[in-house]
Amino acid sequence: MNSPVDASVKGDILIVDDTPDNLRLLSAMLGRHQLGVRKALTGQWAIAAAQVAPPDLILLDIKMPEMSGYEVCQRLKADPTTEAIPVIFISALDDAIDKVKAFAAGGADYITKPFQEAEVLARIAHQLELRRLQAQLVAQNEELVRSNRELEQFASVVSHDLQQPLQSILGYTKLISLAWPDIQQSPARPYLENILEASGRMQQMIQDWLAYAQAGQAQPPMAPVDGNALMDQVMLNLKAALTDTGAELIYGDLPKVMGNEVQLMQLFQNLISNALKFAKPDMRPQITVSVDPQPQAWRFGIHDNGIGISAEHLGQIFEAFQRLHDAQTYPGSGIGLATCQKIVECHGGRIWAESQLGLGSTFYFTLPAPPSDGG
Ligand code: ADP
Repeated sequence: MNSPVDASVKGDILIVDDTPDNLRLLSAMLGRHQLGVRKALTGQWAIAAAQVAPPDLILLDIKMPEMSGYEVCQRLKADPTTEAIPVIFISALDDAIDKVKAFAAGGADYITKPFQEAEVLARIAHQLELRRLQAQLVAQNEELVRSNRELEQFASVVSHDLQQPLQSILGYTKLISLAWPDIQQSPARPYLENILEASGRMQQMIQDWLAYAQAGQAQPPMAPVDGNALMDQVMLNLKAALTDTGAELIYGDLPKVMGNEVQLMQLFQNLISNALKFAKPDMRPQITVSVDPQPQAWRFGIHDNGIGISAEHLGQIFEAFQRLHDAQTYPGSGIGLATCQKIVECHGGRIWAESQLGLGSTFYFTLPAPPSDGG
């Protein structure tokens, strides 16, 4: 007979049954299919054996004198060392299994005596495969978290290290202009201006990179943050850009939210400066901040009357380095919205955009309300 058990899965199976004949029968059956078998005659033994060396699967008799299978299963599921081991219950025909109780106790499946070999093997193979896939997923996830962290550390270190030589370039270029004022009237002037302009852009990129790396770090301390004070500060920080563009920024009374003040400031500032940057060349930018209550949260909206985003691009804008416009007209690093998404998700919220090309965009995000306020 062909074994339904994948040859690559070296199952280590713990059979728990107070009847030695049943143990012998089952272990002979599984042994014929190259599955490793351990045996336990009581629930206590089974728990101890599983804690010392967790098996891949447990076949667990329900009716045992000292401790029922349900209780054994509950105890296994309550212990972090053994909680992930799938448990298949075994029940005799004359002892009908309480399926609700079996699944409530954490059981993954059940088989009934007398055993049908093909059925027993198929159910075991199924659980072992699930366990293998689950382990694979956990390993992949850990790898992903690790490489993400490494990437963020790399970004942070590189950005820090780049800052110093860049300061030298900027400093010495300015020094040349000061030490040799005649240069302003010479043909070298545009070259100097280009150096300053390119260095300024690079400085902005480095700052964006650092902000992105920092936004991904462990949960920042959270406290109630006053939305009005936050906006006042953002207005102050963006004063030059608001004045230069003649933009109108409209907002009413804003609520308190639960969060990290520095990160929230960055979130509002990124979105509002984008609304200023992606304005229509022939129209005065108008930016409105709206706020709506949600269960235990607030939903904010930043609406603009700018150039808008096409439907085909809307799905990509939160990805790092996604830039939909030419760098000459709209300079940037393509990392601002990725940083906003990290910040909002760090706060347990959600961010999304709605937009119509040529008409404007709205960026929505949710933030938790302080416990006493309720959104
Ligand atoms: P950056 O602004 O540095 O290019 P972002 O991550 O902030 O990068 O934004 C990504 C892209 O999303 C931008 O390049 C732009 O194409 C688009 N975008 C963001 N905000 C707006 C907006 N308010 N209106 C139109 N397009 C926007």
